[in-house]
Amino acid sequence: MKAIVYLAPQQVKEVEDWPEPFCGPGDVVVAMRAVGLCGSDLSLYDGHRVPPSLPWVMGHEGGGDIVAVGTDVTDRKVGQRVVIEPNISCLECPACRAGVTSDCKQRLILGMNHPGILAERVAVPAGFTWPVQDDCADEVLACFEPLAVARSAVRRSGVGRGDSALVVGAGSQGIFVALSLLALGAVPFITDPHEGRVALAESLGVHRAGSGEDTFPTFPYVFETAGPPAAFASAMQAVASTGTVTLIGLSHQPVQLSTADVVRRGLRIVGSIIYDHPRDFADTWEAVSTTDIRPERAVHSGVLPENAASAFAEARSTAGKSWIDLTGWQSSP
Ligand SMILES: [Zn+2]
Ligand SMILES: [Zn+2]
Repeated sequence: MKAIVYLAPQQVKEVEDWPEPFCGPGDVVVAMRAVGLCGSDLSLYDGHRVPPSLPWVMGHEGGGDIVAVGTDVTDRKVGQRVVIEPNISCLECPACRAGVTSDCKQRLILGMNHPGILAERVAVPAGFTWPVQDDCADEVLACFEPLAVARSAVRRSGVGRGDSALVVGAGSQGIFVALSLLALGAVPFITDPHEGRVALAESLGVHRAGSGEDTFPTFPYVFETAGPPAAFASAMQAVASTGTVTLIGLSHQPVQLSTADVVRRGLRIVGSIIYDHPRDFADTWEAVSTTDIRPERAVHSGVLPENAASAFAEARSTAGKSWIDLTGWQSSP
């Protein structure tokens, strides 16, 4: 079958002879339709992370149609369209039993420590697939998982209806946080040096931070989605006394922080990694199915597999989410 494989830093290519996935008794096989690209894929692509083996199949954000079910699976069926939850927690360790599956040390992460989903077909434990409507748009399949990341950060922050919040970084993760805040009835502002990204956020109803103000206002809730130390500094500067800074951006670079500042201002700093199974995918399913959040508005048109290399090369500089459209693979024999 076909797959898009990573060979070396900045080198990906489509191959035709990738082995078929093995469907275990508790698995389903999904014929992939759409796969989104995000910062963690790009850190691998750039050579900042090393895959377990080469060539390596990347990708963790996406979905498709079930084409086979394992012998023990009773609650999924062939033909169902599903989104994949790509962090497969063990469900048995103390963290998992406490409901904090994001802290599971045995977690399989598709595309990172376990083969990813940029392939014609993938096998996934049935309980980590989420049935959506049969005509669910491919753009929604591509952005459902990063939306779950954003929504779990919003949940963990404690922000509520009517609260104003600043989102630092208007990459796709920043935009999904802002959309989640809007859906909650909070009032999101956004800041990013990339003008096109701020303009995209503005077109979705998010306020541009700092416009028309002499002094930059402070916010009771700040979400840092970009990662670099300068973005952390902006977040700390923008948070109001007794406020909460929620960190989603990942950077290994040390930041400047004075404990006196945190203590005197009574700040709360919350790290938010992915989501907890099953609550955050269930919540995201509910939001996508029953509200007007429409995350696909932050996604641009899909890129064909043969152009995957340029999609990876350009993903950091484009506004909105990049994704690979694999539907052409599914219609060919
Ligand atoms: Zn991602
Ligand atoms: Zn676990």
